[in-house]
Amino acid sequence: MSHNDCIFCKIIEGKIPSSKVFENENVLAFKDLHPQASKHFLFVHKSHTRNINEMVLANSSHIAEVFSAIQQFSSQEKLDQSGFRIVTNLGPDAGQTVFHTHFHLLGGEPLKGFGR
Ligand code: AMP
Ligand code: ZN
Repeated sequence: MSHNDCIFCKIIEGKIPSSKVFENENVLAFKDLHPQASKHFLFVHKSHTRNINEMVLANSSHIAEVFSAIQQFSSQEKLDQSGFRIVTNLGPDAGQTVFHTHFHLLGGEPLKGFGR
């Protein structure tokens, strides 16, 4: 179900533009507008939920669908050889700004943080 005031639902519906990199029946991935790494994509399920915890409660199989898309895309693009990171933000301490569940895929260069 889409939400009128949700920017990622509008991207999914094609009402606002995005640079798509992957799409199947359930999942869409597109370039982040403000990349934090040389490769930075956002993976979203086409069903609207506000965050990962809502997604688990609404339909936990959607997580597997998103990660299946990440598996297909990252192996097609050989990102699994150089490596990548998946991040999802929930709420203010994490700095979540878009309230449609999304998974950041970051890679294309050595990533800082998490002890590096
Ligand atoms: P978060 O802080 O986890 O909620 O991440 C939201 C992300 O969405 C940020 O990295 C933004 O750069 C990105 N973003 C916001 N609007 C768009 C858009 N229209 N197209 C692509 N990425 C966007
Ligand atoms: Zn949405």
